[in-house]
Amino acid sequence: MIADRIRQARLAAGLTLAELGNQLGVSHTAIQKFEKGFLTPSSTQLLKLAQACGIRTEYFFRTRNVTLLNAEFRKRTTFGKTAQESIKLKVVEMVEKRMELLSSFPNWPLPTFVSRQTLTVLPKRIKAIDEIDAFADKVRDCWQLGMNPIGDLTDTLEGLGLLVIVVDDDHPGFSGMTAMAQTQDGERHPIVAVSKRWPGDRQRFTLAHEVGHILLNGRLTADIDEEKACDRFAGSFLVPCTAVHHLLGDKRHALEWQELYTLKHDFGLSMAGWLARAKQCGVITDSIYLSTIKRFSARGWRRLEPGDPLPQEEPRLFHQLVYRALAEQYISEAKAAELLGIPLMRFHKQRQLESVNAATDQ
Ligand SMILES: [Zn+2]
Repeated sequence: MIADRIRQARLAAGLTLAELGNQLGVSHTAIQKFEKGFLTPSSTQLLKLAQACGIRTEYFFRTRNVTLLNAEFRKRTTFGKTAQESIKLKVVEMVEKRMELLSSFPNWPLPTFVSRQTLTVLPKRIKAIDEIDAFADKVRDCWQLGMNPIGDLTDTLEGLGLLVIVVDDDHPGFSGMTAMAQTQDGERHPIVAVSKRWPGDRQRFTLAHEVGHILLNGRLTADIDEEKACDRFAGSFLVPCTAVHHLLGDKRHALEWQELYTLKHDFGLSMAGWLARAKQCGVITDSIYLSTIKRFSARGWRRLEPGDPLPQEEPRLFHQLVYRALAEQYISEAKAAELLGIPLMRFHKQRQLESVNAATDQ
């Protein structure tokens, strides 16, 4: 058990056998022996291993109770196997904490993501990409989201039962992942992972895109490109057609940059995303879209949009559930601190609201 964990921790930290050996003052073959279980590290060595890998020693002892099935990465740039494995391990570790917390509740505190009822209400077959707008409206309807901007998308989706993992990893090839987390007792929960370091609009679009994969799976006719369909779903889920018409008008000859900028911050969809929505909903013609996006690109805004970036998502649900479990005595204070990854003393103060800013003033 420890052997596997050492290997996983090393991979997650992106260290070679030799590099880790150096930090411990042992040979790379010694590390290899630890990883194969031929040799057991002493407690001092374990501590050093943990420090070198940037994790807490308890990671080595926690039993693995979650496996990731069908992990799929959004393909963008080249993204090597090692980098993928490293992200998967980080995700598994976070999912395990999540599962540990959720299963401490006598009754699972979250709904099943995409209930049977939702699945039956949604159209079974999508024959053209334009049908996705109505599909996204139905989805919003089933989840009672109305037609207004969705504040924190991460919390909204988690509240609906999707496990959203915000990974602290900024590998340039990483742009979102979906998987099925399977617990030891065979229960399966869909998960989506995004990077903690991306701007909010990219996090949100990726999340919505990945939800598109989950919902559109098996509904698209063969001639529809699934990636394009999921992009379309992401746009229409974040900004329904009704909202586009309501805010931009039914027909327009030009759009001002300030309009797009304001709407970006209202709805959490990029300016480029808004332009695309204007075209998709028939507010501007294809040729107006093309000339506008050309001017947009010429300013370098396709790479980096102007003005303040959209704030990152700030999920609070996990945090809140930790306190809920603590209040009901499903978990101990020590466990709560461990789940939140903060020292017990500091947790104790935070719990009493003695130092709410503890995270910043340490
Ligand atoms: Zn995709």
